[in-house]
Amino acid sequence: MRVLNFNAGPATLPLPALELARDELLDFGGTGMSILEHSHRGKDYDAVHQEAKSLLRELYGVPSTHQILFLQGGASQLFAQVPMNFLPRGKSADFVVNGAWGEKALAEAKVVGEMLGGKARVAATTGQGDGKEKSYARVPTDAEIQPDPAAAYLHYTSNETIHGVEFHRVPSAGAAPLVCDMSSDFMWKKTDLSKYALVYAGAQKNVGPSGVVVVLAREDLVKEGRKDIPKIFQLRTAADNDSLYNTPPTFAIYLIRNVMRWVKAEGGLDAIEQRNREKAKAVYDALDAHAGFYELPVDRESRSVMNLVFRLPSEALEAEFLAEAKKRKMVGLKGHRSVGGMRASLYNAVPVEWAKALAELISDFAKQKG
Ligand code: PMP
Repeated sequence: MRVLNFNAGPATLPLPALELARDELLDFGGTGMSILEHSHRGKDYDAVHQEAKSLLRELYGVPSTHQILFLQGGASQLFAQVPMNFLPRGKSADFVVNGAWGEKALAEAKVVGEMLGGKARVAATTGQGDGKEKSYARVPTDAEIQPDPAAAYLHYTSNETIHGVEFHRVPSAGAAPLVCDMSSDFMWKKTDLSKYALVYAGAQKNVGPSGVVVVLAREDLVKEGRKDIPKIFQLRTAADNDSLYNTPPTFAIYLIRNVMRWVKAEGGLDAIEQRNREKAKAVYDALDAHAGFYELPVDRESRSVMNLVFRLPSEALEAEFLAEAKKRKMVGLKGHRSVGGMRASLYNAVPVEWAKALAELISDFAKQKG
């Protein structure tokens, strides 16, 4: 009954992670109740919390210098919470902007700066056009990034989910601590996390359901964070209390545990990365093979492995394409409402066969209509 789900997030979850949740739903581990009904202070939930964290640390290679936090409010809340914590009075933070999410992070930092006496500055942007909706076709080069040597931190978005623009390198931040919104390309490949002072990611793409944000935070940075903001927004509150200061999103964290078990069973990130590259190649190859028909708005070097965006020659053909996709049990291919076109999200839980089926649809459709 399950469809081929290419949604951008919430996205498809690994079937074994869902099946385990189903099997355990009414009676978790012989306790006579659901994990949904367990106290977040009890030993049964604590085992889940610790397993989710330790598997994530092991599989993603999170350095011992970094704490793993589970927060709420979405990655959008972190847009405000990061400057609240790490933008001191009289200082400035740098932003690299190559898509809509980076714009939002910058806008929130400006508001926080106004409130709390800091500044947000653009260190590089690749936005084109003067209108409200800018277009983005690539990430900036290191030469284009002009970091402020005194910046409190440099923030960037490693993968722009809407525009399908991804960094395939770690941008140069100068001396500033590097902060990254990794929401839509978290944990799809091996990553040297020691380069980052702070990483945050909404779970609903690669690691779980919505309702929880995973944060990897260097302990020394968290300790230096501002104390003149509400306690609930200080990252040290979560860090000092193992993300259990107040009631965490227990079921979402439980599902992260299930997804982590699946990643491990699949052979870890080496296997996942290889599969992700194979999936993206299959779809991009099909699009490139019919380049006169499909338009790929993103420069080759910045093409996202997670969110593949493309257009057809007309909106009428796009509607027909979506109808044909539906016939083949494919959903979630419509581009974000702000940019239109098509978008296929090929997160970790999307099997290679789905990507191949999509590549086939892309070829068939171009041959028929091109
Ligand atoms: N950053 C990126 C890169 C995203 O893709 C998204 C959501 N699609 C967000 C931030 C916002 O996340 P949330 O909806 O969890 O606030």
